[in-house]
Amino acid sequence: MPLRVRLTLWYGTVLALVLIVFSVVLYAITARNLRDTVDESLEDTATTAVRLLETNGFLPLIDEDVLLSQFPELTRIDKFFQIFSPSGTITIRSPNIKEHEVPLSRTALDAAFAGKSIYESAKYPKEPPLRLISMPIMYRGNLLYIVQVGTSMESVGETLHRFLILVLVAIPIALSVSLAGGWFLAGRALRPVDRITLAAQRIAAGDLSQRLSIPVAYDEIGRLAATFNNMIGRLDASFRQIRQFTSDASHELRTPLTVMKGETDLVLRKSRPLEDYKAVLESNLEEIDRMTRIVDELLFLSRADMGEVKVESMPVVLQSLVEDVHRQAKLLGQERHVEVVLGTITPVIVQGDDLRLRELLLNLVENAMKYSNPGGKVEISLLRDGQEARLSITDHGIGIAPADQKKIFQRFFRTDVARAPTKKGTGLGLAICAWIADLHKGRVEVKSALGQGSTFTVVLPLVTLPA
Ligand code: ADP
Repeated sequence: MPLRVRLTLWYGTVLALVLIVFSVVLYAITARNLRDTVDESLEDTATTAVRLLETNGFLPLIDEDVLLSQFPELTRIDKFFQIFSPSGTITIRSPNIKEHEVPLSRTALDAAFAGKSIYESAKYPKEPPLRLISMPIMYRGNLLYIVQVGTSMESVGETLHRFLILVLVAIPIALSVSLAGGWFLAGRALRPVDRITLAAQRIAAGDLSQRLSIPVAYDEIGRLAATFNNMIGRLDASFRQIRQFTSDASHELRTPLTVMKGETDLVLRKSRPLEDYKAVLESNLEEIDRMTRIVDELLFLSRADMGEVKVESMPVVLQSLVEDVHRQAKLLGQERHVEVVLGTITPVIVQGDDLRLRELLLNLVENAMKYSNPGGKVEISLLRDGQEARLSITDHGIGIAPADQKKIFQRFFRTDVARAPTKKGTGLGLAICAWIADLHKGRVEVKSALGQGSTFTVVLPLVTLPA
């Protein structure tokens, strides 16, 4: 069922209930008030009659004509009166009560003996109900007479009946008008949702560059649209990233394949000395190595993305790790004519995976050597700064332009200077470094000037040993 229908139905049901309860309560209060008014007027009349009898000295032989002439109200069409003796027999009754007897009830008699007035309702077939008051006249503690005044409830009944008809007509009218209003308002309130749905359908059809127009009022609908736009934006960005990544990856793999194919084609064109074939095969092997590295690193990153890489969490003594990597790098440096030296080394312990941290450091040191000029120097230092370990690798090589310093952590990004044929990289190493640092709740910072060298600093939180 559409939301608009549901909202209107809910609203209508609640309103109908409220109207019904309200009318019932109003009806009850009105009925009660009308009866009270009748009772009051009955009491007034009865009191007047009693006073009249008193001024006449309670004469048992009350003259009906005298009474009526002195108290004309008693003869009025809507009221009748009777005076009973204590035995319950009628002594006097007004002339307007001719049709039938209205005897004194047992309860009224008992109440009179107790000296109390009492109200009663009486109903005779085919006649409007009657309302009666029976009031005792006492003299020195004895019951002399009982004055009963009565009236027909016809006009009260009519008033209530008119009220009922009015309510029965008014409720449906009020209800239909409000339902129409509710239907209109619900439609208005939900219109932006329809617009959002349509726009979302267009976006779902494939155009991720589309955005919803956010309503002027920043209400629930506005927030929904903004959240939706935000989500589309992120989807758009990640789709773009995936497309970029795929094209980068294919490009990176294609270059070595092109080189291998070119060289192989060339060498096969005519028969050549054995050394030529050997040279081509060696060159091919180099390219194959590079491709293997790319594929390995890609595989590693995609497994890391999916959370499938296992990592230890053990205390790692960083200074011994640094010394190991330094020993390894010194040998590699000799081949490349780069000197790798240790700077200040402070003993620090961090929490994490020894192998991954080793990989991280080795990656950075290899980069430093790769992007150093021949005869250059690479320095590794380890410092402690507050609750952080700072492991820095400084080189004096090609450097990185400020604009590129953020991008070098992206997959496959390589600066133009780094693309020189002599520097064989994959563009994935720093992405892996950033991932490892992140895993250890740390980060990799870069300070660099183009042509002057770079400092990469790994910042890791220290192990807080229990005191
Ligand atoms: P690569 O395999 O190309 O070295 P990395 O992800 O390790 O890939 O590095 C990405 C890019 O960052 C490099 O291609 C290079 O442009 C730049 N870079 C990294 N380290 C250095 C450094 N020490 N000096 C200058 N440029 C660097």
